[in-house]
Amino acid sequence: MRPALRRAMTAAGVATAVTAVLATAPGSAAAGPAPVPAVPALVEVEIPGPEHGTVAGSGHIEVPQRGKSRTAPRLSAAEKSKDGAVTRIVGDGSTADRVDIVVVGDGYTADQLADFHADAREKWAELTAVEPYTTYRELFNVWTVDAVSNQTGVSGDPDKGTVRDTALGSYFWCGDIERLLCVDEKKVDGYVAKAPEADLVLVLANSAKYGGAGYNQPSATLGYEGIATASANNEKSGQVAIHETGHSLGKLADEYFYPGYPGYERYTGAEPADSNISTLSAADIGRQRVKWHRWLGETSPDGGTIGAFEGGGYFVAGLNRPTDNSLMRSNGKPFNLPGVEAMIAGFYRHAKPVTALTPTDRTLRLRSTAKVAVPRLTGADGRQLRVRWHLDGKELKHLAGRTEVPVTKLTKRLLDLRSHTLTVTVDDRTRAVRDPKIAATLKSTVSWKVRL
Ligand SMILES: [Zn+2]
Repeated sequence: MRPALRRAMTAAGVATAVTAVLATAPGSAAAGPAPVPAVPALVEVEIPGPEHGTVAGSGHIEVPQRGKSRTAPRLSAAEKSKDGAVTRIVGDGSTADRVDIVVVGDGYTADQLADFHADAREKWAELTAVEPYTTYRELFNVWTVDAVSNQTGVSGDPDKGTVRDTALGSYFWCGDIERLLCVDEKKVDGYVAKAPEADLVLVLANSAKYGGAGYNQPSATLGYEGIATASANNEKSGQVAIHETGHSLGKLADEYFYPGYPGYERYTGAEPADSNISTLSAADIGRQRVKWHRWLGETSPDGGTIGAFEGGGYFVAGLNRPTDNSLMRSNGKPFNLPGVEAMIAGFYRHAKPVTALTPTDRTLRLRSTAKVAVPRLTGADGRQLRVRWHLDGKELKHLAGRTEVPVTKLTKRLLDLRSHTLTVTVDDRTRAVRDPKIAATLKSTVSWKVRL
């Protein structure tokens, strides 16, 4: 699902690049039966903002789904045995109850896989330095999938003409834009499929050159919400990747705009569906109780007071954003409060706050103990997970907060020897979520049948 206002930037250089990509496609012979033109499949990606600017992104462009590798990998038997190895580097939760991030490296030779693992950990540290990732880090599993490249580094680094033979075909200068770091999506998917589950994919290029890209279309086959690419050894590239998760997980629109580009002076369309941009003034957002109305007037972590700031969704005027400078607009900034709320909603689309450790498909008996795992939230707003137990719908208040309940604790209530239902419910009462519709999703339940 794309935000309503996604469109390619109309800057002349970008338009030329798209044309160039299309022009290289073979086909259109003069005589004989009309051949099926082998136009490479295109996919839309977000271009990161310039390295020395502050803006998080500079629009979108369609790029080939294929990467730059020229040949099939020529790996030795020893290298092949390492290729595709999966390691869980963060988390111990069940994939069904966690947000699973799959990290794949490109431009690492068989001898450099330890570097790749270190780079993946470093990027995870960058991500979890930003709220709400800091608080919710226990809701994640991070997996690495080893991709063995024939050569070290990726194409387009250091120069435009550099071509390297790598597992994922990553390349800078994608669409003729130096900082745009594209991949071969099919090859990425081949590795991602080896992990138990992927909700989000991060491709790390073995490079220090500034760059990245956001592929924010959900995968139809593997179920993940998007691919972010980043240079492993460039700190600013990590910030680009975090911005991309604002789209893929948070379903947030861009809050930046294009001063000076024809067509983007003023938005005149309908109210967009995106939660963080609006045609309305702050007063109307408040009066109509829509969009980020619950946050108006609050101080936001990115600075200033939440209101309606002119410019957003690529347009200089006609669309407003909640704060001046959130990370949906500027590199290296935090999410604003409506953005944090949207990210938490995204986390809980994939994560559950309670996991059964005692199997639920068997009836609990006198000697059984009902056990669950509840993640321990860290950071600014931790410990807001509430654990409640119910027997046949009636709350057992004295058991609140427990993660283990022996059936002997319940015997008084089970003397009739009939089958009963024991339930544990965990809900997240974070103050970072104010929308009751989102709050209702921050919850999960585990139930067992119990009989003496
Ligand atoms: Zn963006």
